Amino acid sequence: MPVAMNPPVEPAIRIEVSQINRAPIEASGLADGALLDLEHDRFAHADGPISWSFRLELVGPDILVSGSVSAPLSLLCSRCARFFSTSVRISSFFRTYGWDEHPEVLDLSEDVREDVLLEIPGYPVCRPDCKGLCPQCGGNRNEVDCGCVPPELSGDASPWSALDQLKWGDAPQGAAPDK
Ligand SMILES: [Zn+2]
Ligand SMILES: [Zn+2]
Repeated sequence: MPVAMNPPVEPAIRIEVSQINRAPIEASGLADGALLDLEHDRFAHADGPISWSFRLELVGPDILVSGSVSAPLSLLCSRCARFFSTSVRISSFFRTYGWDEHPEVLDLSEDVREDVLLEIPGYPVCRPDCKGLCPQCGGNRNEVDCGCVPPELSGDASPWSALDQLKWGDAPQGAAPDK
């Protein structure tokens, strides 16, 4: 087996803090995307391990944590309704924790999850020029040129104009019994 170049993927983002004293420590690693708890989300899914890198510093009774996170995600395009792969990056994660509450190990999973979810765009698009779905036939306009003409451009300004063509009095008599 080849030697693994990447750190192992851990189920949570946990950092040993008992080793911090005067000097700040740097820590980094990979955490399972499952900690984002998106399995049942309709619009976003984890798409691989989250990579994180933090600096921990003791200031008085507090541990100051700063750093960055990158989470690969699969998001539903708000225009064409397909999932696409992207990464949410947090370049300035910052939190303060009381050292007396976390004397041994600091678990950052929940706070990282919170920041990643806040960073997911409200209306993600798979690419800036995504043409989306045709409102008439539902075709993906990135893939097919369905040729549908929007109603406001087809010359019939009103959706009721088709009804004007019907002569209501005529319609049922064609099927009248011949007796
Ligand atoms: Zn799209
Ligand atoms: Zn169409």
